[in-house]
Amino acid sequence: MVEQVDTLILGAGAAGLFCGARTGARGRRTLVLDHSAKPAEKVRISGGGRCNFTNLETVPHAFISNNPHFAKSALARYTPWDFCDLMSRHDLSWHEKTLGQLFCDQKSSAVIKLLLDELDIAGSELRLSTGIGDIQHTGEQFLVATSDGDITARSLVIATGGLSIPKIGASALAYTLAAQFGHTVIEPKPALVPLTFTGQASDDFASISGVSIGVEARANSGPSFAENLLFTHRGLSGPAILQVSSYWKESEPVQLDLLPGIDGPLFVDALKASHPRLSLPAALATHFPKRFADMLAAQIDQSSGKRLAEWSRQHLNQLAQALKAWAVKPVGSEGWRTAEVTRGGIDTEGLSSRTMESKHVPGLYFIGECVDVTGWLGGYNFQWAWASAAAAGEVA
Ligand SMILES: Cc1cc2nc3c(=O)[nH]c(=O)nc-3n(C[C@H](O)[C@H](O)[C@H](O)COP(=O)(O)OP(=O)(O)OC[C@H]3O[C@@H](n4cnc5c(N)ncnc54)[C@H](O)[C@@H]3O)c2cc1C
Repeated sequence: MVEQVDTLILGAGAAGLFCGARTGARGRRTLVLDHSAKPAEKVRISGGGRCNFTNLETVPHAFISNNPHFAKSALARYTPWDFCDLMSRHDLSWHEKTLGQLFCDQKSSAVIKLLLDELDIAGSELRLSTGIGDIQHTGEQFLVATSDGDITARSLVIATGGLSIPKIGASALAYTLAAQFGHTVIEPKPALVPLTFTGQASDDFASISGVSIGVEARANSGPSFAENLLFTHRGLSGPAILQVSSYWKESEPVQLDLLPGIDGPLFVDALKASHPRLSLPAALATHFPKRFADMLAAQIDQSSGKRLAEWSRQHLNQLAQALKAWAVKPVGSEGWRTAEVTRGGIDTEGLSSRTMESKHVPGLYFIGECVDVTGWLGGYNFQWAWASAAAAGEVA
């Protein structure tokens, strides 16, 4: 017996569950399948257990894609306020932490419950611990072999996400299926990920592991991010580094402004005026955490331990320059083990920006993180999951 549904959704993560609720609400007989034993594991571990479920400042330029216009339509039609409304309807509340980032007041499991309740209300079915086998497109149907038997569906929605955190169920299925159906896949790379170093830099950063400073960070021609940087045993992390990791290219440096929003020469002159008797490490420690000041001074001090009062104009200028543009050269990233998202993925060229439907195979849809749309840190990736799921959910 071949089971028949209208809409089959592969992947019970944020995008798959939300899409299943929308197609079910339209009266489509919907089945959501996942190989994991639990749904939406990434929602559970997101936002430190509080799920940063959206960002109030969702703007297209906060999403990285080969086609920066692709995400606009879906994001405009399903906004952060739409998800806030849904949260309210489920008696969930939220707070803005910083930079428009909305976190659930309850635990992230409450957001999973919301998604499962919505699926249930819509009459859609969820089946877990189900392996996906061969998929064929015959006539107007998809025939999907699963560990639970064969299923046919008129619409097939791929929502199996990217490659980050394999130990909680990530797989390359979306990319394999995309290639099978004639889509181009832009090389998936770890993003929103800590950066690693070797040699002296690695030793220096490890020696002050746990220290955090405010910086403005930039990689390549990407935007700059004024957020915190964290020194770790493996290199650099913290929101500023996670953000620029999505733009960083191997063998390129990361530029760090250690005085965000402060004029370098004015800062250095004021430091000299207020602390003329101090050497550089002690003077820097009046502004930065002491352990960082010592490490930085050891790297950039060319004054042979002189007090600031004895510094030449040239040395002061060099100091200002070093503080405004400290360049560090990562050798790599922590990779899929800790990356929050995948950059790259299914080329948007082959998808409708209105519905997420394949331009090659009618009835086939790709939504969520498997698509080449990667949000900044701060709730943007869930907003993309909701918006792309809502777009496909109108038609699939
Ligand atoms: C530690 C961490 C914290 C995060 N915090 C935030 C945050 O606070 N805010 C934010 O916006 N984003 C956050 N993200 C990113 C966010 O979780 C993802 O962008 C989002 O979950 C993507 O949704 P998705 O439904 O496309 O994919 P996923 O949520 O990854 O769901 C994919 C589903 O497909 C299933 N699947 C995979 N392969 C197969 C297969 N072969 N067969 C069957 N099923 C399969 C998986 O088991 C999974 O359930 C975080 C990510 C991580 C790793």
